[in-house]
Amino acid sequence: MGWKIIPFEKKVWLSSPTMHGEELQYIKAAYESNWMSTVGENIDETERLARELIGCKAAVALGTGTAALHLAVKLAGVQPGDKVFCSDMTFSATVNPVTYEGGVPVFVDSERETWNMDPRALEKAFALYPEVKTVVAANLYGTPGKLDEISAICEAHGATLIEDAAESLGATYKGKPTGTFGKYNAISFNGNKIITGSAGGMLLTDDVQAANKARKWSTQSREAAPWYQHEEIGYNYRMSNVIAGVVRGQFPHLREHMEQKKAIYYRYKEGFKDLPVSMNPFIEGEMEPNFWLSCLVIDEEALARQVRSDSEALYLREAGKSSPTEILETLAAHNAEGRPIWKPMHMQPVFRMNPYVTASGNGRGKTNAYIAEDRGENVGEDIFRRGLCLPSDNKMTKEQQEKIIEIVKSCFA
Ligand SMILES: *Cc1c(COP(=O)(O)O)cnc(C)c1O
Repeated sequence: MGWKIIPFEKKVWLSSPTMHGEELQYIKAAYESNWMSTVGENIDETERLARELIGCKAAVALGTGTAALHLAVKLAGVQPGDKVFCSDMTFSATVNPVTYEGGVPVFVDSERETWNMDPRALEKAFALYPEVKTVVAANLYGTPGKLDEISAICEAHGATLIEDAAESLGATYKGKPTGTFGKYNAISFNGNKIITGSAGGMLLTDDVQAANKARKWSTQSREAAPWYQHEEIGYNYRMSNVIAGVVRGQFPHLREHMEQKKAIYYRYKEGFKDLPVSMNPFIEGEMEPNFWLSCLVIDEEALARQVRSDSEALYLREAGKSSPTEILETLAAHNAEGRPIWKPMHMQPVFRMNPYVTASGNGRGKTNAYIAEDRGENVGEDIFRRGLCLPSDNKMTKEQQEKIIEIVKSCFA
């Protein structure tokens, strides 16, 4: 590095919003009719589109996916001090809402076939904490987890499953859309998701009564009365009709975005076939991801030395090897955006006191307790150490992607 860097003229993004025109029509209609608040046709229509597309009885349009997860946790009845099993390797938004209700996340490690919650680790978690009544499982990077096993384990233990499908809208598991496996499910329309409203989220469920409760909570828990009557604590979580216009205009383009993301994934897979790396995996024939982000992991033997503190990373350049840090920095030098893999929650200072459970460990691990025999191999830690997210923007051209592939290859020179 250092010579012959010709950066992309226009930045190649990890995943940026892709607009099509209809969005503007719906925003304009909201403006012209003055439905600029949290009531209106766009909201009703996006909820209808979500119900039809995903196949659930109720959808509640909210300000964010995080709000949807919070209301899901509330509906599940999590009380202060209750332990809740959560995906470990995920975005913090999966687990933060548990703490809003005073719940205590217990992190469950990933498996290697989809990078999502390992059913074996979940079984072990129930053996350790049989009292747990709620599980929050995320589908990472657009790939469904082993959802039938996870559902069956939850059912066997009388626990409520909340599916965090924020990253996996449109993906299916055994032909069934993600966002329908939990009793309560969350999707997101955040700016970098597969379709976006610039922001926004939705709670999905087949329990219409629960949905109505969540809708009420989301509008400050106003009771049906001629004045502002409140019998419960409420939130200002409802989606705006303007945002809903953007989401409404995006829904018809979900398939198209998925096709583009899939093409990106397979071009990377082909481009890297001679490198000591592998792509984020899924179980063929069992699931169809939405391919939201393409990720790679470097083979152990080809991993150059790298150390990470809580705020910095250092690496060595070694012939024939590379590291996530080297690849990310080289991409950045070329004006392309990659990202590290989600740093597992049990490694986060804010959750250092929370237990985590691995499939291979023989007990409960705690980051701050050096009880070696308890930890077991942590799959999430390993993927974080060796993996990264590649530029996966659906507006990236084939030529740009070919250059990205060459940039990554150069790191292994
Ligand atoms: C984006 C995301 C969320 C939350 O979505 P927001 O709409 O940004 O609040 C939750 N979980 C995961 C895994 C996500 O990637």
